[in-house]
Amino acid sequence: MSGLNAPISCDLLVRADAVVTQDAERRVLDDAAVAVRDGVVVEVGGRSGMEARYDPGQRLDLSGKMLLPGLVNAHTHLPMTLLRGFADDLPLMEWLEKHIWPVEFQLTEELLAVGARLGCAELIRTGCTAFLNGYLREYVTGQVVADCGLRAVLGEGFFSFPSPMFPSAEDCWKTVRDLDARFADNPRLRTAITPHAAFTVSPDHLAASFELAVELGVPWQIHLAESPSETAMCLEKYGKRPVELLHDSDLLGGRTTLHHCVDVTPDEIAILAETGTNVVHNPASNFKLCSGVAPVQAMLDAGVTVGLGTDGASSNNQLNMFRDMGLAALAGKVRADDASAMNAQAVLDMATLGSAKCLGWPELGRIEAGFPADIIALDLGSPNLMPVFNHVSHAVYAATGMEVCMTMVAGQVLYLYGNFRTMDIQSLKTEAGEAAKWVLAAAGK
Ligand SMILES: [Zn+2]
Repeated sequence: MSGLNAPISCDLLVRADAVVTQDAERRVLDDAAVAVRDGVVVEVGGRSGMEARYDPGQRLDLSGKMLLPGLVNAHTHLPMTLLRGFADDLPLMEWLEKHIWPVEFQLTEELLAVGARLGCAELIRTGCTAFLNGYLREYVTGQVVADCGLRAVLGEGFFSFPSPMFPSAEDCWKTVRDLDARFADNPRLRTAITPHAAFTVSPDHLAASFELAVELGVPWQIHLAESPSETAMCLEKYGKRPVELLHDSDLLGGRTTLHHCVDVTPDEIAILAETGTNVVHNPASNFKLCSGVAPVQAMLDAGVTVGLGTDGASSNNQLNMFRDMGLAALAGKVRADDASAMNAQAVLDMATLGSAKCLGWPELGRIEAGFPADIIALDLGSPNLMPVFNHVSHAVYAATGMEVCMTMVAGQVLYLYGNFRTMDIQSLKTEAGEAAKWVLAAAGK
């Protein structure tokens, strides 16, 4: 133990003008510092006291900046960066069936890795430190994440109809077990069971995959109630609406994370709350595909845990959580017809603590002693962030994401003042150019 006046050792001491902690009291500390040891926050407190108490291996002076917990993107398909801007301005099913799936099903491991690297670079640049993914050949994205230092929950997607990866859904189970085992030693990587949607996966396969999630002790995630047309398909096929279908099959609960939930009734919202089911809101994607505006304030009022996600880069077209925070707040007010709905604190809660629960990783999304040191910094010298009355307001309404000047995961700085420390952005530019040529050829263009 240290003596009364002996300084406490830590790996890193970060000082900043303000720290938005997202702790239980939602404290925002001015002129503060964060001590980090072994990838975990040891203490958050006033700068002068912290500087006197700690003897850090390294110091990071972020004067003129505010610290926030790293944002958590609770729904994306990372390698879809390869198809960003490739097919825009189309409704969901036409977009998927005629443009996205035909190209996606031809993607090679090398191309997936380029897409995943592009995605990771964008997440790091815009202050996202963890994400919940759903795609194919997730071991590729997993390796990219392992190399660049982000955190992720990997979801190998499957359908009940044959896909290039799996002749049938059951063929996915072994891949999922392998994926879970492959990264078991990496504390920054986890897995989730990922049926695509209720209209592409049969009730039997949904139930079997849920059993696998229980067996492996991992989250179970699915696109659900994304649009009125999905509800119509579900009613035609099963005579039930999407939430009803899952509820009747005992597939709702704390392990379950539903992406979208745009077309849900008040009764269904009550069911989501009762069962403790997690919901991810994806405003930009919902608007771009004209799926509608999810009744998120009503869900929050009912006590539903709601996280925030960007969805894939081809239906957003960004992976920038700051833009989705802004959209969630603005559209949420219009949806609720109430300017006080979806206030800045509620939206920041969704993008941090709410999303963390959706990942099944509730320790994330805060800057607090004993929790992972996933921290970002926003430059308060940006003209759009001056002056500061309320840091949370600035993070949600004024910031664009480009003010992020530092991104740290588990105490490791991945990005600082324009420099990526774990990624080669120049070579990525060349690889992205080559990948674009392949996409056009694969689409027969
Ligand atoms: Zn999606």
